[in-house]
Amino acid sequence: MAQNLEKIKKRYDELCDLIIKYNYHYYNLNAPLVDDSEYDALMQELAVIEKEYPSVKRDDSPAARVGGFASETFSPVRHDPPMLSLGNITSEQELADFDSRCRKNLGAGDIIYSMELKYDGLAVEVVYENARLKQGSTRGDGEVGEDVTANLRTIGALPAILSSAAGLDYLSVRGEVFMRHDEFERLNRLREERGEPVFANPRNASAGSLRQLDPAITRERNLDVVFYAAGRVSGALSIPDQGALFETLPLLGIPVGSHFRVGTLDAVREFYGRWLEERHTLDFDIDGVVVKVNDFRVRERLGATSKAPRWAAAWKFPAREAITELESVDFQVGRSGIITPVANLRPINIGGVIVKRATLHNFKEVERLGVRSGDKIRVIRAGDVIPKVVEKVGEAGRQAGAGIVPPLRCPSCGSALQQEEIYLRCVNPKCESKRLEMFKFFVSKYGMDMEFFGPELVARLYKKGKISSLADFYRIDREALLGLERMGEKLADKILESINARRHVPLSRLLQSLGIRNVGEHIARVIAAQARSLKRLYAMSVEDLMKIREVGPGVAESVYNFLHDDKNMRLVKEMQDSGLAVEDEPVAQPVESAVAGKTFVVTGALSRLTRKEAEDIITRLGGRAAGSVSGKTDYVVAGSSAGSKLDKALELGVPVLSEEDFIAMIGGDIDA
Ligand code: NAD
Repeated sequence: MAQNLEKIKKRYDELCDLIIKYNYHYYNLNAPLVDDSEYDALMQELAVIEKEYPSVKRDDSPAARVGGFASETFSPVRHDPPMLSLGNITSEQELADFDSRCRKNLGAGDIIYSMELKYDGLAVEVVYENARLKQGSTRGDGEVGEDVTANLRTIGALPAILSSAAGLDYLSVRGEVFMRHDEFERLNRLREERGEPVFANPRNASAGSLRQLDPAITRERNLDVVFYAAGRVSGALSIPDQGALFETLPLLGIPVGSHFRVGTLDAVREFYGRWLEERHTLDFDIDGVVVKVNDFRVRERLGATSKAPRWAAAWKFPAREAITELESVDFQVGRSGIITPVANLRPINIGGVIVKRATLHNFKEVERLGVRSGDKIRVIRAGDVIPKVVEKVGEAGRQAGAGIVPPLRCPSCGSALQQEEIYLRCVNPKCESKRLEMFKFFVSKYGMDMEFFGPELVARLYKKGKISSLADFYRIDREALLGLERMGEKLADKILESINARRHVPLSRLLQSLGIRNVGEHIARVIAAQARSLKRLYAMSVEDLMKIREVGPGVAESVYNFLHDDKNMRLVKEMQDSGLAVEDEPVAQPVESAVAGKTFVVTGALSRLTRKEAEDIITRLGGRAAGSVSGKTDYVVAGSSAGSKLDKALELGVPVLSEEDFIAMIGGDIDA
C-alpha cells in the first residue's frame, strides 16, 4: 500500500510540475506547448488523485488556483474581488452533474441560468472612477494582474467615459479582449510579408498584442472587447441578475457579448448545440459557452472555491487545434507560381474533421519552425481556412526524417525556380499547375465569383482540353458540359447561368480576376474607381497610377506591366470577343460627393456594417478612412460604445455621424 501511495505521489508531483510548466507557456509566453484537450486531461487526472488521496495534495497544487501569472514587466494591479477561472464541462452528463450540485447546495428546484458565448481571448478588468476609465489590467494569477491601461485605451470599443453614469462612483467590469478573424488574417499576412513569425490563433494574437509595452502596437492591431461581469460597484446602480447586467452595461456604453440568453437547463443544451454547429458563422473564435446561475443572490449562496465560482461553468467545444506528426512535405504551385510547402500529416481529428494536410506557408516559415519529417507539430483549423502548421512541439526520434530542402525546379513543369524575397517562384508562363490554379482562381469568389463553377469542374474541363485560356470560360456551351461524366442537364444549366451572370462586369471585377500581382479585391476597386473605364485605364502611365491613393510603386508597376504586355492585351481582347462586356465602374452620384475627398474616422461598434466594411465604402467612394481623429478629420462615424475617438471629436468640434446618418449620406447603398 505504502509503495502504491509512493507511486501515486510520484505521478501527482509529475502532473503538478507539468501543469505549472504548461501554464507558464500558455499564460506568460502566449505559446502553449500542448493542446487544450491534453492539458484538460492532465488537470482531470490531477483532480482525481487529489480527491482519492488527499494526503498527497501540495500547497502549490495547480488545481487550487488560477493558472495565470502576472509578469514583472508590468506594474501589478490587485483585483478586488479576485478574478477567478471557470470549472469545465465537456458533456451533457457533466452539465447535469453541475446542475444537480447547484440544486443540492441550494435545496432548490429548477434553476434559471444565463448563457453566453465563451469568447476565446484574454480576461481583463477595467475600472471606472466617476465615469472615467481609470485603470485596466489582465487577470494575471487572479489576485494580481498586469497594468495594461495604456494598451486597453487604444481599443475602439472600450469607452473612455461612460455615457450615463449619474451617481456611479466606482465600477469595475470584467471581460475578454479578443481579435476578429479578418484582423487576425490581416495581421498574420503582414507578419508573413515582414518575415516575422505568425500568430498561431487569434487568442495568442490578442494576448501578444495586449501584453507588450508599446500602445502604438496595440493600436495597430484593432483588438475588440466585450464584458460579462461586474467586479465591484459603488454608487446608485443595482444589478440583481445577469440579465439585468447585460441590459445595464450597454446603457453605460460598455459592450457586452452577443447572443446572450436566459432559460432553464434545456435551453442551455439547446444553446450549446446551436453554437457548436454555428460557431463558424461568427467572425471571432469562441471555445465554448458559459452557463451561469442568473440570480446574483443565489450565486452568493453557492459561493466559490479558490479557483472558480460554484455557480458557473464553461461548456467547452472539442478542440480545433491538435498535435500530430509531420510525415512528409509536398511542394504546391500556386497561380502566381509561388511554391508553397504543404505538410502531409498523420491524419488527426480536429473538431470533428479529419485533417491530413496543412500549409507551411513558405520556406522562410519552414526554417523558422525548424521542422523535419517525423517531428511532432501543432496544427490549427480555424473557420473555413486551410489548416496550418503553427509550431514544432517535439523533435523526431533517432531515425529523424529528412530536413525540408527547398526545390530548385518547379515540381510541375521542371523549370528553374527564382527566389523572390521570401518566396520561390516558377516563372514559366506555360506551367500546367500554375495555369490550372489561375483558372480556379478566376471562377472563385475572389475572382469572377461564378456561383456554380467550382474548382473541381475547372480541373475536369481543363483535363479535357476545354479550357486553355480565360477567354474559354465565355465560350463553354451546354454540349461541352454535358460531355462530362456526372453532369446532369439541371446542373449544366446552373453553370451556364453562373457564366452568363458574369458576362457584364464592372472594371474592378475584371481587374481582380486577372490574377495581377499585388492586386486583390480592394486595390482593384480603388484603381477602377479612379480609372472608371478600361480604355482610360490603358491610357494611364505608372505615374498616373501612383497618384491614386493607396497605390504604391509596386502595385502601379505590376498593373501597368500586366496590362501592356502583348499577350495579356490579346487575352483581354479575346475575352471581350467571346462575350465579356467590361462596363465602366459605377459611381454613386451625387451622394458620392459627400464622401469624396473627405477624411472619416469610424469608431465604436456599428450594427449593420463592420468597421472594415464602412471604411471600404468610404475608400470606394473616394474618401479617406483614417485611424485617429485630428483637426483634419471631416467626420467621425460613431457606433455604440465609441470611446476616446468620439471624445476627441467632440473636443475638436468634428461633426459626428451615427451609423444611420452615415448610411443616409452614402445613399443607403451598403451592399454595392
Ligand atoms: P477558461 O478559459 O477555461 O475559463 C475562464 C475564462 O473564460 C475567464 O477568465 C474569461 O477570460 C473567459 N470567458 C470568456 N467568455 C466568458 C464569459 N462569457 N463569461 C465568463 N468568462 C468568460 O479558464 P482559464 O483559467 O483561463 O484557462 C483554463 C483553460 O485554458 C483550460 O481548460 C485549458 O483548456 C486552457 N489552458 C491550456 C493550456 C495549454 O497548455 N494548452 C495551459 C493552460 C490553460
